[in-house]
Amino acid sequence: MGPSVSDLYHRAAAVIDLACIRHNLNVVRAKAPGRKIIAMIKANAYGHGLMQTGAHLAAEGVDYLGTAFVEEALELRKAGITIPIITSGPFSKFQIGLFIENQIDFTVGSTDALHLISESAAFYKKRVNVHLKVDTGMMRIGIRHSNADLLFSAALKAEKQVNVVSVFSHFANADSEDLSFTRLQLERFLEAARFYERHCLPKPLLQIANSAAILRMPESLLDMVRPGIMLYGYHPSPHSATAASLRPALSLRAKVMYFKVILKGSSVGYGRTWTALENWGAVPLPVGYADGYARGLSNKGQVLLRGRRHLVVGTVCMDQIVVCIGDGEAYNGDEAVLIGRQGDEVITAHDLASQLDTISYEVLTGISQRVPRIFINEKREQEAISK
Ligand SMILES: *Cc1c(COP(=O)(O)O)cnc(C)c1O
Repeated sequence: MGPSVSDLYHRAAAVIDLACIRHNLNVVRAKAPGRKIIAMIKANAYGHGLMQTGAHLAAEGVDYLGTAFVEEALELRKAGITIPIITSGPFSKFQIGLFIENQIDFTVGSTDALHLISESAAFYKKRVNVHLKVDTGMMRIGIRHSNADLLFSAALKAEKQVNVVSVFSHFANADSEDLSFTRLQLERFLEAARFYERHCLPKPLLQIANSAAILRMPESLLDMVRPGIMLYGYHPSPHSATAASLRPALSLRAKVMYFKVILKGSSVGYGRTWTALENWGAVPLPVGYADGYARGLSNKGQVLLRGRRHLVVGTVCMDQIVVCIGDGEAYNGDEAVLIGRQGDEVITAHDLASQLDTISYEVLTGISQRVPRIFINEKREQEAISK
């Protein structure tokens, strides 16, 4: 037998099961058959490790990787990933060369940006791939749907320098119970894209669906889909929960490195927010808000240890939390689970998000760079590779 996962780290780790990501990708394929897939891996692949997750998804055959910023795309290129990458966020004119030199696709949401790109492309003597962004109600980057013709015709005029791969938009609330605004956005988008039919021009690929829409709005699948959170095993909201069974890929673990008894009447931690009512066993765990275990979980969070749930007592510190185990046992080297499964118990990023009044996205992306990522493939933990 090779090493187990807990031999691969000393303090804390986020363990990513790539088999779960593969399962979730297969759910995307089942929901959006035949559609091209842009796997969204911005923000360190939602906390799952940008390069390894990107490489895994590329090997699994997704058509595109999607990042927010060119800096993220560059990291993927430096890691040797060659499949197309689209950046959906804004860029500065000083970064245009980086896109072109590294063959990274642009998102273009204004005629100004289009002109800057086409000038640079001419300078490089290259034709560059762009995706035109139409704002149908999100009010972020993107040309207003009623003005989209302007951008589409500008791109046609710049045809020599600019290859329009797709036209896309983004939903504001495809995860909410009421889908009427989402339908309106889809209608605005399709209306804008009719430009190409009206002018008898070949139509670029059309794309609008995020995870929520993939799970709930088959009519929005169009030519390409952009799953994010569902690849990592979470539903964007409870409203899609029955649509598919997803597998959370990330578990956050830490090792017991100390044990003590807190005497009755003693307080724990900064601000003395918790006091032991009896003599109770406690383990300080070497993980804190600087690792992304939010301070809002003070006196609220739960941790699995030896297959049982225990409360985080006192304030979450930068580098440590204290877990009260009552009269339970714990030994140095025991693995504690902050997100994930242990025995019959499970704590999800969604559970923490509910306690924190936020969404799983924020909990996952909040797991900081200080936490090493370890990649495994389900049921083959002994073959785990550490990074
Ligand atoms: C993040 C993002 C997505 C994915 O959204 P999920 O809700 O995580 O599926 C899709 N499109 C764009 C433009 C994004 O920025």
